[in-house]
Amino acid sequence: MAHTVQAQPPVAAGRLALHGLSVEGVNQCVHCGLCLASCPTFAELGTEMDSPRGRIFLIKALAEGRIALGASTAGHLELCLDCRACETVCPAGVPYGRLIEAAKAEIERQRPGGVLRRAFRWLNFGLLLTSPWRLRLAATVLRAYQTSGLGWLVRRGGLARLLPGTLAAGEALLPPLPPARERAALPPRIPAEGARRARVAMLTGCIQSVVFGAHNRATARVLARNGCDVVVPEAQGCCGALNAHGGDHARALALARHTIEVFEAAAADAVVVNTSGCGAHMKGYGHLLADDPAWAERARRFAASVVDVAEFLAQEPLRGPLGPVPMTVTYHDPCHVVHGQKIRSEPRRLLAQIPGLSVVELVESDWCCGSAGIYNLTQPAMATRLLRRKIGHVVATGAEAVVTANPGCILQIRAGLAAHGATTRVLHIVELLDQAYGSASRGGASGEASGEMGRGSASRGGAST
Ligand code: SF4
Ligand code: SF4
Repeated sequence: MAHTVQAQPPVAAGRLALHGLSVEGVNQCVHCGLCLASCPTFAELGTEMDSPRGRIFLIKALAEGRIALGASTAGHLELCLDCRACETVCPAGVPYGRLIEAAKAEIERQRPGGVLRRAFRWLNFGLLLTSPWRLRLAATVLRAYQTSGLGWLVRRGGLARLLPGTLAAGEALLPPLPPARERAALPPRIPAEGARRARVAMLTGCIQSVVFGAHNRATARVLARNGCDVVVPEAQGCCGALNAHGGDHARALALARHTIEVFEAAAADAVVVNTSGCGAHMKGYGHLLADDPAWAERARRFAASVVDVAEFLAQEPLRGPLGPVPMTVTYHDPCHVVHGQKIRSEPRRLLAQIPGLSVVELVESDWCCGSAGIYNLTQPAMATRLLRRKIGHVVATGAEAVVTANPGCILQIRAGLAAHGATTRVLHIVELLDQAYGSASRGGASGEASGEMGRGSASRGGAST
């Protein structure tokens, strides 16, 4: 997959911009402070410059050239999770997510850091996320590292502590890579069961496809059970969300253009996404490419077709039969579902339809867990503080499992629970729905799906943890 990295067309003269990206939205802020209580970093630190209002002040001052991008200013901006909780409560409609992405892109331009940091970014943003086959190769190598015992030796022998900061944090958070059959590509088409409701194209994601292939299979099965012809475009790759959140703007644009091209060719009624950061980012392609005359209209049309899997399934009652899943769970709202896409009731409505399932509410369920893209690698201290806060609330529910909808949250919460010694499982919502369909099949005469689309870890008791 070759991506053409083009420059962003210039913002009109006189408009406030950073890194060529409009930050005019800073002028919508009326400094009311209603967002402060919802900001995790402000709650932890209590400093104005680590609040949304303080950061907006910094972004405006930078764009107007009144301050330089020194270490202190960059530090306050980099500590932002881009969780967008401030957007949810802002009465003035400040588009905070777009402002912080522009600021982070400008930080990358002015303060690219030392050799190690640049190498880490090039490896991830330039090499792995831009190429599905290189990502698959890396997954194969990492799986060998884990299963050969080398990983155990590195940790046990204390070698992990010798790795430079980001690599050490990355090694600690490395998820167990599943076997090759779970990382294999989905079939190009999974036919609808029963009366046909829609033709949907599915994003299989970059990290998602190599770490949580089982979630993708569960998603396709659940969609098919609900009357969808599911098409899986083979040429798809990363949507560019991680690049955009990490300030790698030029590659984010290239990946967005590629994604639009590939999914347009699928000619589907909707593009269904089961990873919250990707869904929120793809719904924003219209803004991302608004200043590019060749792409603006295509991007806007594409963005309107993107739908989160829970949002899509909740449009109609789930088609039965759903079998019992006798379990008590709690639900963690991923930031880019609840704040980025304003989806709050839909996952809960789906869970309420599973027989035998008991759902207990989680305190601060829409509070960031500290994962936030690669935030837990770049800002491990704050990420750990937020994770401890989240785990305390999860454990207090007494639930057997936390249900959520984003690979980053799953990995982060799983690591936090393990460090806490808790046995609580962490499940993607589609795994639970898939279990309910599997449970109904076992109770009936039809048996479970098998072969390419057969149930993986989800049907083995939700063993995603
Ligand atoms: S709530 Fe909105 S308008 Fe008020 S300070 Fe925060 S960002 Fe500004
Ligand atoms: S995006 Fe999240 S961390 Fe950043 S200012 Fe808004 S609420 Fe705070």
